[in-house]
Amino acid sequence: MDNPVWKNKEYSFFSHKKCEYFPCHQDADPDNFNCLFCYCPLYALGDKCGGNFRITTKGIKDCSSCLIPHKRENYGYITGKYQELVELMKSQGTLPPR
Ligand code: SF4
Repeated sequence: MDNPVWKNKEYSFFSHKKCEYFPCHQDADPDNFNCLFCYCPLYALGDKCGGNFRITTKGIKDCSSCLIPHKRENYGYITGKYQELVELMKSQGTLPPR
């Protein structure tokens, strides 16, 4: 989609340039760094998030090399995966039945 409804909207991009850690990833573009998904909502999807993660020797998912949630153009990608999160919650019984 070339012109998604969220493109250039205030709600789809927030850059907290006064944050002590900004930009918190190496090789990030500070002019297009989105802080909206500071803690990535897709972390819970494990190896299905689509990001550039690695698993440490202690078995921890390490996202320090991934810029997917921080790129301005990826708002739609992140929100487009929410249904997968809902399915995950349903499969774990953590979502109350309607
Ligand atoms: S930051 Fe990247 S690797 Fe980590 S959960 Fe999000 S999309 Fe996946």
